[in-house]
Amino acid sequence: MNSPLAAQHSPSASEDLVGLFDIRPSDAPASAEERQAAIAAPKFGTVFTDHMARISWSAQDGWKDRRIERYGPLQLDPATAVLHYAQEIFEGLKAYRHEDGSVWTFRPEANAARFARSAHRLALPSLSVEDFIGSITALVRTDVEWVPSGEEASLYLRPFMYASEPFLGVRPSLEAEYLVIASPVGPYFAGGVKPVSIWVEREFSRAGAGGTGAAKCGGNYASSLLPQVRAQEHGCEQVCFLDASTGTLLEELGGMNVFVVKSDGSVETPELTGSILEGVTRSSIIQLLSDRGHTVVERRIPLDELLAGIEDGSVTEVFACGTAAVVTPIGRLAGSSFDHTISGGGAGELTMAVRGELTDIQTGRAADRHGWLRRLA
Ligand SMILES: *Cc1c(COP(=O)(O)O)cnc(C)c1O
Repeated sequence: MNSPLAAQHSPSASEDLVGLFDIRPSDAPASAEERQAAIAAPKFGTVFTDHMARISWSAQDGWKDRRIERYGPLQLDPATAVLHYAQEIFEGLKAYRHEDGSVWTFRPEANAARFARSAHRLALPSLSVEDFIGSITALVRTDVEWVPSGEEASLYLRPFMYASEPFLGVRPSLEAEYLVIASPVGPYFAGGVKPVSIWVEREFSRAGAGGTGAAKCGGNYASSLLPQVRAQEHGCEQVCFLDASTGTLLEELGGMNVFVVKSDGSVETPELTGSILEGVTRSSIIQLLSDRGHTVVERRIPLDELLAGIEDGSVTEVFACGTAAVVTPIGRLAGSSFDHTISGGGAGELTMAVRGELTDIQTGRAADRHGWLRRLA
């Protein structure tokens, strides 16, 4: 089969995908000054570009009406299914401007595949990899001037899909909308990478066996918000969840996977049990650590073992990872019966090395030896 994705870097492949979209330019785009001001001082997820990508779906007609249109409010019937039963999924990835002005994204096929898996779990229609990549390419090309340049600046892309049928019956929606919105973002850590403190939650879970933990859906985030507030009440910035069945195994943060670095140079991360989200950053870091000669073990990690390792020095670094912050050092791990400092409360050496390596690849400063980048514009 001659898929348009087969030749990833050929311009014509991208032209084929983008060509499916009807470009309807906004009649009220931001002025160059407004855009510059927004890009210069971006606050994560508060300012959006002039346009959004959109495809509509119905059980009868399938996916139709691929378009780039003016960014703006959606009009929803109060009975719209998503508002009642949370049939919704999303993705998050970034567009990076390289030094020569070209714009690239990182492993979008992995996000597209995960989006399809999430759709399956939430009984939403499956969007093709071609439509996923075509939509982000068409949007980024239309709003290319919104892609910031500069250290750790990027255009954050948020594809999402929701059940749009106005119907209160409990069954999969017969209509859905897929959109992509884009927001310029600066460095996640203004003023340099800073270790975060983590509260280990023992009462509330994020996801259970057979649930939606492996899907990127809004509902998982809704259930993580109260624990997040409680973490802050305990003086911690983020929350780490344990497995719902035994309450003893490390899972992940509300929106980031976790890694543990041992004094012998090996690295561990919780294995994917079905209730953990498979991060693109997680799998990229497993690859980069292996390339560096580290043994990376995906296994069930008991919290007690981690705490004992921090106490006896066999655990030297702990970090979290995800697209938004890339790699976040964890300097403190606290819970109802413990409060531990890790790496002297600073950022671990391997943590920062792998962080630098990944951002160098994404921004074109290091060779893309695994073929992870795809040119958008
Ligand atoms: C999105 C997400 C991650 C990180 O995934 P990336 O693909 O690395 O951005 C981790 N955990 C959860 C729960 C997530 O939703």
